Amino acid sequence: MRADELLRRYLEQRRELGEQELVLDGLSVDDVMRLIGAGRPKSASDTAVGANWRDSLRAAGAVESTPLADMPAATSPSPIADRGIIDLPPGIVVGTDARELFGGDLSRCQTIDDVAALVRACTRCDLHRTAKNPVPGEGSPHARLVCVGEAPGASEDETGRPFVGQAGQLLTKILEAIKLSRDDVFIVNVLKHRPPGNRNPRPDEVDACRPYLVRQLEIIRPTVIIALGTFAAQALLETKLSIGKLRGAIHRYHGIPVVVTYHPAALLRNPAWKRPTWEDVQLARRLLDGAIAVPPP
Ligand code: SF4
Repeated sequence: MRADELLRRYLEQRRELGEQELVLDGLSVDDVMRLIGAGRPKSASDTAVGANWRDSLRAAGAVESTPLADMPAATSPSPIADRGIIDLPPGIVVGTDARELFGGDLSRCQTIDDVAALVRACTRCDLHRTAKNPVPGEGSPHARLVCVGEAPGASEDETGRPFVGQAGQLLTKILEAIKLSRDDVFIVNVLKHRPPGNRNPRPDEVDACRPYLVRQLEIIRPTVIIALGTFAAQALLETKLSIGKLRGAIHRYHGIPVVVTYHPAALLRNPAWKRPTWEDVQLARRLLDGAIAVPPP
């Protein structure tokens, strides 16, 4: 494939994920070198180019990004740094550690099944009219890890189960890579009914459906949340920041640490994101293991 075609596809995928700036972390050094016309070093005497590829990028006009510059400032030194993980910026903090109930029917829900029953009867937005089945979520009610996706797709709509299509199979493999089965975790979406034609969820639909997710998280009270993809991360963290800016930090959602990574469907389109996804889930695994501490809000 031609280099410019490769770059075009790459940029389209980035835009699809909501990124407004160019981040080249999904390409190998050789790919980037080729795209900027620097090529591979031809001889041993030419290895300076390969070794100083960042200089080559700067010479080609690239600007070093500070992707987390507009995050909230840290209020104290990060204990993570004390435990050997460096360069982890402070994350977004949403809510407090207190259990915050929404009142009404949801406050009476004491179990995951109670919430699922309300979801099945829900008419808060119009999505229930076009969807075949509600997809309230599934897994262990005592899960230490909750995976939050965007919304049901066609396979999920057919079965009433989350992440059962190709992307779901990949999620299962990702979980196995950090020694977890689907039964160990709870898998859920921000929206419980499928948007027609897999269109993007609308803000009013997210607002209508969010209380179910919040109550599910209140009941399960996991140790860690993984937000899968731009939409889930933005909905959970109440931000418009791109996934490129949200990855690589430990955020907090009502006191629960949140790690953001790519949606498995995006990984199917761009296998180059498997490596950063692996780094993200390793971060989640280390949080589960207590191998790193969570920075104070
Ligand atoms: S998507 Fe959520 S808010 Fe809309 S009808 Fe389904 S459960 Fe209710």
